[in-house]
Parts: sequence; C-alpha cells; structure tokens
Amino acid sequence: MNLSDSLVLMEKYAQCPKCKSDKVGNGAGTLEVEDDTFKRTCKCGWAVLVKKGLVREDITMIEKALQVFPKSYVYRNEELILEPRNNVYFRLVDVETEIDFKCKMFAWVSRPIAKSLNKYWAPRVLKSFNTLMDTNFTKSDMYLIYDRLGNDVNRKLTIRFIESGYDMELLKR
Ligand SMILES: [Zn+2]
Repeated sequence: MNLSDSLVLMEKYAQCPKCKSDKVGNGAGTLEVEDDTFKRTCKCGWAVLVKKGLVREDITMIEKALQVFPKSYVYRNEELILEPRNNVYFRLVDVETEIDFKCKMFAWVSRPIAKSLNKYWAPRVLKSFNTLMDTNFTKSDMYLIYDRLGNDVNRKLTIRFIESGYDMELLKR
C-alpha cells in the first residue's frame, strides 16, 4: 500500500463511524498499516479492513479466510476467491453476518471438496476449510454436507447445522 493511499485511508477512518471515537492505542482502538493491509479497529467493536481488493467493515471471517487460503483474494469487493487455480469462490455481496459467511462456505465450498477437486487439491482445500471454520470435517462428511447443503439448497437446515455446533446427525436422512 503506497503512502498516499495510506494517508487517504487514515483520514477517512480517523473517526469511528459507529461511536465517533478518534482514539487509537491504550485499548481504545488499533491502527495497522502494512505493505498490503490497512486495518483500523475501535473499542466499540467496529473495524475496517482494506486488503487484497477488499474494503469491508464486517471482517472477522473474511480476514481469517484471506490468511488461511494461501492464494486467496477478493475480486472487485464482490467475490471471495479462495483458490484461484481451481475456481473455488463465492459471492460476498449478500454476506452480512458470520452465519451468512458460514452458510456460503457449506453451500459453495463443499462441492469442490467432495466432487470436483483432484487428489492433490481436495485435502488442501479441506484443511483450509477446517482451519477457517474451526472444524474437523473429513472428506466423507463433505459428501453428506454437499448432498444436503450444497448450492445453498437448504439455508434453514444450514443454519440449524451451524447452530448445533455441526451435528452430523442433522444431515442424515
Ligand atoms: Zn467506535
């Protein structure tokens, strides 16, 4: 991130849009400017991240995804590209909460892991999936997940599954 971009962002986000605090340091908030990252957080819980094509204020899972999937980036602030060579991605436009984000992972990442990725890639993407979601799914779990939740066919069941702490029994017919 070049100096003038950083200065523009620092000015833009000097004041927290939620609680109007302009304090950083001493537990009041943080400001991090690195080569490819601008991040400002506030003690009220608000945060903004500008990184790899992304400008968002609800950042926790997206930020973690960008760390966990090695080649990941955000395209035009709209699509989260998790694995570019294999076209593993989903749209971010309608992702507002952590639950939305997790639903998208089950809806769109279960298929490549269960069906389309080869023997080299499937375990790698599954590993990143588990790290990001803090889960321990196996490839055979992923078959069942894809069968019941893939392509966003059942959002209600997906939410129940997430809220249950990933009870696989819920997915068995
Ligand atoms: Zn604030």
